[in-house]
Amino acid sequence: MARHWYEEQARRRGPRPPRVPAEASISRRQQLVALLELRAMDFDELREALRMSVRGLDEALGHVEKSLKHTGQELVVDPAVCSTCGFVFTGREQRHFHPPGRCPRCRGERIEAPRFSIRG
Ligand SMILES: [Zn+2]
Repeated sequence: MARHWYEEQARRRGPRPPRVPAEASISRRQQLVALLELRAMDFDELREALRMSVRGLDEALGHVEKSLKHTGQELVVDPAVCSTCGFVFTGREQRHFHPPGRCPRCRGERIEAPRFSIRG
């Protein structure tokens, strides 16, 4: 009996990579909240603890910030600081949570990552 072409294709491709269930990212966010309720952590510490990409953590922090508003809590962001000249990254630069690449004032690249905590 002839196989359907798609069965043949599937057989050649071998087993599919496991799909990451949607719950995975949600529980990641819950872990993120749990960590920040314990103590303040900076971007790089969080990334290491949760094994997330820069972009993934950036998005997760955005979600957490929004969802906390419904609970009366608040995501507190201590902005990134340039280690060379002390420039503080407040304002627009802060809308992204990840550390900026370089300082607009001295062009230095030694930037202390922003720190996060949860208040409330
Ligand atoms: Zn600087």
